[in-house]
Amino acid sequence: MRNGWAESQAQTGILSFSVTSNASAGLSRFSPLLSLVLDSGLEHAERDVSCKTTMTLTLFDNLVEIERRIGATGRILLFLDFDGTLASITEEPARAQLSPAARTALTELSRRHELTVAVISGRRLSDIRARVGIPGIIYAGNHGLEIDSGSWSFRVFEATRLRPILLSLCRQIRDEVECIPGVLVEDKLLTLSVHYRLASDYDAKRVVRLVRAITATFSDWFKVTQGRKVLEVRPRISWDKGTAVTWIRQRLGNHNTLAIYVGDDSTDEDAFAVLRDGISVRVGSSDTLAGYELADPDLVCRFLRWLNSALDLRNESTRTPSSSG
Ligand SMILES: [Mg+2]
Repeated sequence: MRNGWAESQAQTGILSFSVTSNASAGLSRFSPLLSLVLDSGLEHAERDVSCKTTMTLTLFDNLVEIERRIGATGRILLFLDFDGTLASITEEPARAQLSPAARTALTELSRRHELTVAVISGRRLSDIRARVGIPGIIYAGNHGLEIDSGSWSFRVFEATRLRPILLSLCRQIRDEVECIPGVLVEDKLLTLSVHYRLASDYDAKRVVRLVRAITATFSDWFKVTQGRKVLEVRPRISWDKGTAVTWIRQRLGNHNTLAIYVGDDSTDEDAFAVLRDGISVRVGSSDTLAGYELADPDLVCRFLRWLNSALDLRNESTRTPSSSG
């Protein structure tokens, strides 16, 4: 089965490798920095943000500093979460979509030669790619376990190997919680989401208890973390949005590149933790490792429009000959 999978990946050009016991050996060939991140055993969502040492600043009160950093860099790598960041949270996850203004701003950014956009989401890769649907963007699904740039693709092998066990866990969770009104179990092939936004408070607590108890019997392979009215069941491997961001940066080359990351969820804290040299922005108010905050997706859209304008200005100023000669 493993050989068959490897062959099919070779045919489709998908890169993959294991990240558990042989993580360091496998990855050191690819990237010493990535091996370092994996060896640190970073765990997402339960990360202690109390270690932050700086105040989180309102982004729009600090545009002068952002503009200075944009002016000093060669390239920008812009990472964006989707739900709650680019698109407003909806009661039913299937209804979440980009606003026309956000779509326009994102499309303009995706066409810039000096900037690369990556959308990184807990949704399946196929879902987030279809939902955004803008060419020239790197898409990362399942919290970075699967990544596609259009010209290259990548999956974390260890997560794909756990698929049969995840299927069994999914069946058990469905048997227990899908009969509860307002609960949706979403099988994303490499991870599961249990949405309970439409459940009563009483049922929401019941769902959390049941999913945690069932997953505990699979704890050698899977862990549960809690997002905004959603439980995420994910492989117990050292791979999260932070690791994925590091991998993408290495893949594209880090030289004179400024990384900007905007996200609203606890899973985005893993990315903030590895981007201490970049610009990190948490959407909504929460304890966070991010340096800046924005209130909601409307302001994220405003920031994207501002970024387009700031890059236009920067390019104009570098093209205009100095009057002093
Ligand atoms: Mg989000």
